[in-house]
Amino acid sequence: MLIVKKFGGSSVANKERIFNVARRCIEDYKKGHDVVVVLSAMGKTTDELLAKAKEINPNASKREMDMLLTTGEQVSVAMMAMAMQAMDVPAISLNAFQVKMNSSSRHGNARFKRIDSERITNELEARKIVIVTGFQGINKHEDYTTLGRGGSDTTAVALAAALHADKCEIYTDVDGVFTADPRIVPNARKLDEITYDEMLELATSGAKVLHNRSVEMAKKYGVQMVVRSSLNETEGTVVKEVVKMEKMLITGVASDKNTARISVIGVKDKPGTAFKIFHRLAKNNINIDIILQSVGREGTKDISFTVSQDDLQDALRVLEENKESLTIQEIKHNAKVAKVAIVGAGMMSNPGVASQMFEALYNYGININMISTSEIRITVLIDEKDVDRATLAIHEKFALGDV
Ligand code: ADP
Ligand code: ASP
Ligand code: MG
Repeated sequence: MLIVKKFGGSSVANKERIFNVARRCIEDYKKGHDVVVVLSAMGKTTDELLAKAKEINPNASKREMDMLLTTGEQVSVAMMAMAMQAMDVPAISLNAFQVKMNSSSRHGNARFKRIDSERITNELEARKIVIVTGFQGINKHEDYTTLGRGGSDTTAVALAAALHADKCEIYTDVDGVFTADPRIVPNARKLDEITYDEMLELATSGAKVLHNRSVEMAKKYGVQMVVRSSLNETEGTVVKEVVKMEKMLITGVASDKNTARISVIGVKDKPGTAFKIFHRLAKNNINIDIILQSVGREGTKDISFTVSQDDLQDALRVLEENKESLTIQEIKHNAKVAKVAIVGAGMMSNPGVASQMFEALYNYGININMISTSEIRITVLIDEKDVDRATLAIHEKFALGDV
């Protein structure tokens, strides 16, 4: 059996944790399995590197940022190989360059394009445990790229797909995927299973337990993932295509504080206005989320939309530079907003889910700024200060927790 095992930053944060992971991998290796390990940077390394870069140059180029950030994973894989060797098990660490994990060019948000399996296969045939850097790729200029925060999950799934692995296990610091972030909702319940579609909606709505692109890729290539704890033997959550029918209307709640709202006021109320605004933003690689347009009055209207906080300054600059051609009279923004979403395939066939969610917020006096929906998700934009209270209120309303 070929097993891909991915361990997040907290799972390799110090010497004891590194040896703990080494032991878990060696267990499978000694059963005769081929083991490929994907690691994140140790502990809070990526955050620390980001902070250091900011001290040197707050506007550092994205290429150099990737050059810096990829070092974090390189440290952890080498340490892990050393730990395994210290335990007399043959192991080798490889980075994206050595494996050849080819990605698109976009620094800070690259996507995998093609992964060579030859080097890894050769090392496995030599009966080594292969330890690969998460989060990084190389682009056509042979420069390092990164996949976006939390991207090591995607490295694991990409390798599992490329190597036709039998298992893809994502080890983290919680026991699996819960009905809400257990750090916000203490009685959140661990799910035994969840569908790709629901997990994708949760991850995209801010449940950072899995990188959303890892779920997208797992669905595309039919990679079944298991999310479980690196610190105990609890079974974890299986992410797959179809799950046993549960009675639950809602599968989970997610929230995201990395959100900002922009309003463009007084734009012309005529065909092409929205197209031109969003085309400009798209050309500058700015992702738009919820969009709300006001009813026109006296030939003008207002359009509000959300972007991630990381893109806020870029978005404001682009709009400001094109203010005249986009017929914008005024630009407003608010970074102190957050999204809360409920996700569940059950809502498709059950009217009234939205009203229950809104009632939960109303009961706590929380105002809704914007709303957006998909077939299996309802998202509201609220004030950032209310977000944890809102998550708790909604979780309670749908009785998602353990009693
Ligand atoms: P890793 O470093 O292992 O990749 P992350 O910090 O990226 O770990 O993701 C795990 C964290 O995700 C948990 O500690 C938890 O606080 C958070 N989280 C958010 N939503 C959920 C959820 N629905 N289920 C489980 N964990 C969640
Ligand atoms: N080290 C990277 C981050 O902190 C990637 C990851 O952990 O998945 O975002
Ligand atoms: Mg993560």
